[in-house]
Amino acid sequence: MVNAVYPGTFDPITNGHIDMVVRATKMFEKVIVAVADSTGKQPLFNLQERVELASRVLSDLPGVEVIGFNTLLVDFARKHNASVILRGLRAVSDYEYEFQLAGMNRNLAPDIETIFLTTAENYAFLSSSLVKEVSRLGGDVSRFLPQQVIAEIKKKLG
Ligand code: ADP
Repeated sequence: MVNAVYPGTFDPITNGHIDMVVRATKMFEKVIVAVADSTGKQPLFNLQERVELASRVLSDLPGVEVIGFNTLLVDFARKHNASVILRGLRAVSDYEYEFQLAGMNRNLAPDIETIFLTTAENYAFLSSSLVKEVSRLGGDVSRFLPQQVIAEIKKKLG
């Protein structure tokens, strides 16, 4: 009966994120996709747009909730009764930052565990930022994003 929080910027949500959520639903009672405000990252989609997109794309999955937040992650997790923070690992380059983040969060909240899932091999190269860049330059991103997201990214980037 464990709830997990899956935090990220989700600017926008990709098939790699969705694969993580689907796999997480098999392990946790509830998976809360926590969309971080991340204003420092100057996201393409504002918080409300990112929450709406993720909600639409994940609406068929039972046990999944999408919520925006701009507070400390461990406070958000406690508020939603989640004892697990879920993160994805793609390449070795993800590891250093994730290791720091998990260490900081453990210090702030020793009762909350960070758990990692490794990426599905076919999504190992996939990131929101690369997808935006490819899309901006007119490349085909249809294999990496759900239909609803492709439509919205086209609206934004032309
Ligand atoms: P953040 O700004 O916190 O890195 P992201 O939206 O980029 O937010 O990523 C959220 C989480 O999803 C991170 O743990 C990231 O490693 C993971 N993730 C992103 N893309 C993939 C992918 N293709 N496969 C597996 N995990 C991924």
